[in-house]
Amino acid sequence: MGHVKLHIPGPVEVSEKTLRAFRSPMIGHRGQGFKDLYAKIQPRLQALFYTRQLVYLSTSSAWGVMEAALRNLVAKKVLCCMCGAFSDKWFDVAQRCGKAADALKVEWGSPIRAAQVEAKLATGQFDALTVIHNETSTGTMSPLAEIAALKAKYPDVMFILDSVSSFSGIKIEFDRLGLDVLLAGTQKALALPPGMAVFTCSPAALTKAATMKDRGYYFDFVEFQKNAEQSMTPSTPSIGHVYALESKLDDIFAEGLDARYARHARLAQRTRDWAARHGFVLFPENGFESVTLTCVSNGARPGGRVVDVPKLQKLVKDQGFLIDGGYGKIKGTTFRISNMGDETEATMGQLYAALDAAMKQF
Ligand SMILES: *Cc1c(COP(=O)(O)O)cnc(C)c1O
Repeated sequence: MGHVKLHIPGPVEVSEKTLRAFRSPMIGHRGQGFKDLYAKIQPRLQALFYTRQLVYLSTSSAWGVMEAALRNLVAKKVLCCMCGAFSDKWFDVAQRCGKAADALKVEWGSPIRAAQVEAKLATGQFDALTVIHNETSTGTMSPLAEIAALKAKYPDVMFILDSVSSFSGIKIEFDRLGLDVLLAGTQKALALPPGMAVFTCSPAALTKAATMKDRGYYFDFVEFQKNAEQSMTPSTPSIGHVYALESKLDDIFAEGLDARYARHARLAQRTRDWAARHGFVLFPENGFESVTLTCVSNGARPGGRVVDVPKLQKLVKDQGFLIDGGYGKIKGTTFRISNMGDETEATMGQLYAALDAAMKQF
């Protein structure tokens, strides 16, 4: 059997055009060719981050930068907002980095709300906060604007935001929101191969990082800034990724940012409609559904249809599509369908047709 098209929430399907760019001939990373390449994509990266700060390229998956944010910015205590597998893990990683950490925990499928965050920040214990915008394990999006609005009241708290699975699928205005770190991996909505992360830091974050001991070298924010000023990276980057990113930025700005965001919102709605048509209910709390993936309840919530998820996956896979069978403690009692990246009405239509055919077997 040939390639099975990815509709899991990362990595997602990578286009032939992107793959061609990815395998461009190598150049030296300290040469003018690389500097020109990075300098050329920098303004469009800044536009995508809605920032005047420099955007950095990290040759690591997103977790590298997530861990880096803790090591560069947490001196006192970090508040980890936890609402699913990825955000829960961040608390664990903070402790493994030797940081004092506290948990703001809500039920999986619920979003993080500003009032809950504020109650914690008001204790004055914290100098950093980790939030996952789009909790990929539960398909739940937390209301970013209301959380970021707290920054004005707590300016000394570093607001660290993981937008790994929402970045470029919905507008996130870094400067206007007053965030301190915004990071994303390349294998989610950017639809590049895995292995690179993109991120930016506020001036305050860079100032604070410079005062931190033991922040290491590979993920030192100060090194990223110093190098980015010269259109370089601290160490040898995955140059193929940078070519692929250049190609993807061409696609993104040809489509237009607003059109791209609207496309993601529309396709996520179509997946929710597909689920409803087959009698399923959704896993996330009503009104907080992700725009890049859909987490369908399969018994995790009262009411709604329940099917044999591995069987559904197999029936769909036999038709050439891979969907996800649920993550962590909700594996099997949910399943997930991604619409992020390059998907269109036509390509999602092919997936729904395969899913429809599979559902006839239940
Ligand atoms: C995928 C994902 C991660 C982890 O990314 P890696 O590339 O595996 O490091 C982190 N956070 C969120 C929200 C994700 O979706």
